[in-house]
Amino acid sequence: MSDDCIFCKIAAKEIPSEIVYEDDEILAFKDINARAPVHLLVIPKRHIETFNDLNDDDMRIMADILSRIRDLAVSQGVAERGYRIVVNCNRDGGQEVFHLHFHLMGGRGFSWPPG
Ligand code: AMP
Ligand code: ZN
Repeated sequence: MSDDCIFCKIAAKEIPSEIVYEDDEILAFKDINARAPVHLLVIPKRHIETFNDLNDDDMRIMADILSRIRDLAVSQGVAERGYRIVVNCNRDGGQEVFHLHFHLMGGRGFSWPPG
């Protein structure tokens, strides 16, 4: 756990969140500032700062996160119409919280390319 990390605090239940899925290693919760009817954040509970910091040992949990996102898209009712999975990395990527997270967004259409 990283001391000043808001998502570590959410994972530790020190800060409340609307949790939609949890296991020993993964947490999925609603984005507090939802930009779409469905907007979840899916995180490894362990603090990993950015996508750049992933190492080979992290790939199993990354696979678990991706299959969880696939299942959440179904349970959230957006799988058939479609959705977007986003990871923002560092400044140019628009990352604001430096604990790796996957956005799962759906329930409306998205334009391409993103702004
Ligand atoms: P990013 O720009 O990819 O780092 O996105 C960070 C996301 O975290 C934003 O969409 C925020 O709305 C969201 N966020 C920040 N604080 C919280 C919180 N306490 N609970 C839920 N989502 C949060
Ligand atoms: Zn963290």
